Amino acid sequence: MNWYLAEFRLFGIDVKVHWSFVLVLAFGAFLYGSGPAGWLVGSLYGVLSMLLLFGSVTLHEYGHALTARRFGVGTRSILLLPIGGVANLERIPEKPSQELAIVAAGPLINVIIALAMAPVALLLNGGSPAGILSMNAVGANIQNPGLLNLVVFVLSTNVLLALFNLLPAFPLDGGRLLRALLAYVMPYTRATRTAVVVGRLLAVLMAIYGIFSGAIGLLLIAFFVYVGGSAELESVSNRAVLRQFKAARALTPGATSLYTSERIERVVELLMRSYQTDFPVRDLSGRFVGVLTRPNLINALRDTGPETRVVDVMQPAGEIPVCSPETDLATVWEQMGQSGSRVIAVTDHGQVLGIITADDISEVFQVMSAAMAGTDQRSQPPAATGSDAQETRKYV
Ligand SMILES: [Zn+2]
Repeated sequence: MNWYLAEFRLFGIDVKVHWSFVLVLAFGAFLYGSGPAGWLVGSLYGVLSMLLLFGSVTLHEYGHALTARRFGVGTRSILLLPIGGVANLERIPEKPSQELAIVAAGPLINVIIALAMAPVALLLNGGSPAGILSMNAVGANIQNPGLLNLVVFVLSTNVLLALFNLLPAFPLDGGRLLRALLAYVMPYTRATRTAVVVGRLLAVLMAIYGIFSGAIGLLLIAFFVYVGGSAELESVSNRAVLRQFKAARALTPGATSLYTSERIERVVELLMRSYQTDFPVRDLSGRFVGVLTRPNLINALRDTGPETRVVDVMQPAGEIPVCSPETDLATVWEQMGQSGSRVIAVTDHGQVLGIITADDISEVFQVMSAAMAGTDQRSQPPAATGSDAQETRKYV
């Protein structure tokens, strides 16, 4: 479901509002419309309140995204869902101190908004704090339209947003903060495992409390936290395995290259005779000009037949990410996920040594994690499109 209610660009980052966000506005209209202000004024006020709430969520995401930008990490998009926002970062910063700053910036924005609203609320209330403290986002009089009520609503929801996001449970910011702090005193994988265990414990407590108090929302959050923790742990473990190997290791020695003018019928023959599925393409002077991938081949056979020339259907070199032989496979895998390319060219001083495919990495991964079995490594290969790496780049 990739239908968006709205899409806009702010500070160079695309913000996408998921269609299901309509439900949030409808919920606000319904909740406030049944309040003391009457259905028309009430429901309009309810919509306004929801927009302000999600405006705060969006600013929270910008806190992550703009801090990431300071460290040279771009943000592909910010997605707004009824359960909150997601900033989809291009990569994970390597230094724990950078991740710490990126994570903390989100809740910090909510704290700043709350602090800015406090004096406004005081001023509107005639300088007296009396009465303000008893008003909050869940209080009944929040449904009464009014500037003071609105300011108190923004203030208290931002306090709640900061507190909720700081719960030490993946994929919430608090879980990432805990992991980043633990990573100062223990290896990254162990820090992740510890943070995930803390999060799961919290999820179980939330679920129990949710069942006994009848708060169904808590059950949903508990589930979200439990699943989020597992995904993070798996992704970090996978990366730890891949990080131990250099790109040079995944290169197939003696891989067959094609020439641009060759027909794909020859490639079909090659495919039958060997295990190679993706072929580097060179021009007559031996220069690397692209890769004929298996999907390219299959599409060409179907669409234009065996007479098709390689050069007409290959993935051109300009669209293929490159790495050095010294790059570790975790980084290579991440580059594949980011670029959406299933091949990467390994170059040394401008010369292409060969290509690595998603299959090559899966193979190294399967062999190595089998060899490490017993040391608590996972045995399933990373997802074919690097989607697990994408999961860990999402900041809520
Ligand atoms: Zn956040």
